[in-house]
Amino acid sequence: MNPLSQLPSVDRLLSAPALVALVDAHGRAVVTGMVRDALAATRGAVKAGAAPPDEAALIAELINEVGAGVTAKMQPKLRPVFNLTGTVLHTNLGRAPLPEEAVQALVAAARSPCALEYDIESGGRGDRDDIVSELLCELTGAEAATVVNNNAAAVFLLLNTLAQKKQAIVSRGELIEIGGAFRVPDIMSRAGAKLVEVGTTNRTHLRDFAEAISPRTALLMKVHASNYAIHGFTHAVPEAELAALAHQHNLPFVIDLGSGTLADLAAYGLPHEPTPAEAIAAGADLVTFSGDKLLGGPQAGLLVGRRDLIARIKKNPLKRALRVGKLTLAALEAVLALYRDPDRLHLRVTAVRQLTRPEAEIAAQAVRLLPALRAALSGLPVMAEIVALKSQIGSGSLPVDRLPSAGFAIKPQGRRSGVLNRIERGLRALPKPVIGRIEDGALLLDLRCLQAEEEFEFGAALAGLPVALAGPAAAA
Ligand SMILES: *Cc1c(COP(=O)(O)O)cnc(C)c1O
Repeated sequence: MNPLSQLPSVDRLLSAPALVALVDAHGRAVVTGMVRDALAATRGAVKAGAAPPDEAALIAELINEVGAGVTAKMQPKLRPVFNLTGTVLHTNLGRAPLPEEAVQALVAAARSPCALEYDIESGGRGDRDDIVSELLCELTGAEAATVVNNNAAAVFLLLNTLAQKKQAIVSRGELIEIGGAFRVPDIMSRAGAKLVEVGTTNRTHLRDFAEAISPRTALLMKVHASNYAIHGFTHAVPEAELAALAHQHNLPFVIDLGSGTLADLAAYGLPHEPTPAEAIAAGADLVTFSGDKLLGGPQAGLLVGRRDLIARIKKNPLKRALRVGKLTLAALEAVLALYRDPDRLHLRVTAVRQLTRPEAEIAAQAVRLLPALRAALSGLPVMAEIVALKSQIGSGSLPVDRLPSAGFAIKPQGRRSGVLNRIERGLRALPKPVIGRIEDGALLLDLRCLQAEEEFEFGAALAGLPVALAGPAAAA
C-alpha cells in the first residue's frame, strides 16, 4: 500500500477541536495554509524514505506543529518588551514611553474623527501645526513652530528651505553621526546645501566663521554634539556670539539641538541639557529638536523660531512629504501640555520619571523581585544577586553622564558562560520579552525602566522562564 495514502486529509485535520479553535481565533485561510504546509513536509519526508508514521501519532504531531506555526505567524512583530537594558531612551526599543495622558489622547484620536485640519470655531479649514504650535511657542519663547516626522527631517527641511544651492557654515567639531543613518554632512548634501566646515575638531573660533562668510552663505549652523563629548583643549563659539555674527551679515543662525528638553533637567538632579528656550534667548533664529528623546513624547521633529522662516519652511512642498499624522499630534499635544506644570514633570512625563527615579527606590524594587528571579533560575548553574548599576540616558543625550541605578547580576557558577546566553535568550523568548545586557561575564537586568505598574507583571512573567528555557527559541 502507498504510505502516502495513509496521511490524513486537510479537512480531517481542520476538524480537530484544537484547530477549530485556531480557525476561530485566526481565520480559516491562515490555519488551512499552515495545515497544507505541514502535510507537504510530512509527504516529502515519507517520499524521501522516512518510516510511514502511525496515524494517530502523526495527527497529534501535525496539530501541534500547526498550532505552534499559526501562533508564531500571528504574533505581532511590534511587541511590547521590558526594557531592562539600563538605557532609558533606547532607540531600538522605541525611545520614550508615552505618559498615560498621551496614550489616552492618541487612542481617542485614533478611534474617532478629530479636528486635525479643521477650525471648530469658524467651521473652516485649519492647519495641523496649530494643534501644537501655540504650546511650543509658549514653552520655548519662539514666535512660530512647525512639526515634521523626526528631527532628521526637521534638519533636512530647514536646510533644503534656507540653504539649497547655497552654503551652510558649521564647525568641524560638530559634523556628527547619529546612529549611522544620520550624518550632518550627508543630510546637508541631500538637502542641496553646500557644507562649509570651519575650525578644527577640537577648537573653533568666531573668526573662523567670520572668515568663511561670503555672498553664497545661507546660514550659520550649530549642531549640539549630543552623543559624544570632547575634553581638554577645546573651544566652541558661544551661541550668542554666533547669533550676533550671523545677524551682522543678515543671515539666520540655526541650531540642531537633538534632544530638546523643555525643562531644566538640573532642577531634577540631572545634568543640564541645553533647552530650545535658551537657544532662542541666545539669538537662534531656528531651533530643531526631537519629540521622543528627553522631551518624552512621540517620534517627531520640532522646528521653532522666527515667524518668517517658519512660514518659508511650511511652504516648502517637502513639508507635505514629511508632515506628521494625527496620532503623533494627539500624543505630542498631550505631552507638551504636561510641561505647563514643571513642578510635576518628574511624576507625569514617563521618560523624565524614569530618568529621575532615585537609586534607593530602584534597589527596593530589586529586593522585592529577587525571590521571583531566584525561583525562575533555580536548578541552573548561576547565581543572581542585587547589584548597583549605572543607567544611561540614551539616544545620544548627555553621553558622559551615568545615572546610579540598581538591578540584578546573573553570573555563571564556575566557568559555564554558555548558560548566560541561554538565559538571555530565554528571557527574550517570554511572551513579553525581557531585554537585559551581558557585560563583563554577567547578565545584567537594570530595573530603572521597570515602571511601578509593570512590577507585578514582570514578577509573574519570570515564572514562565523555565518553560521558555526549554522551548525552541531559547535553545536556538
Ligand atoms: C538625535 C539627533 C538627531 C536625529 O533626530 P531624530 O529625531 O532621531 O531624527 C539629529 N541631530 C542631533 C544633534 C541629534 O541628537
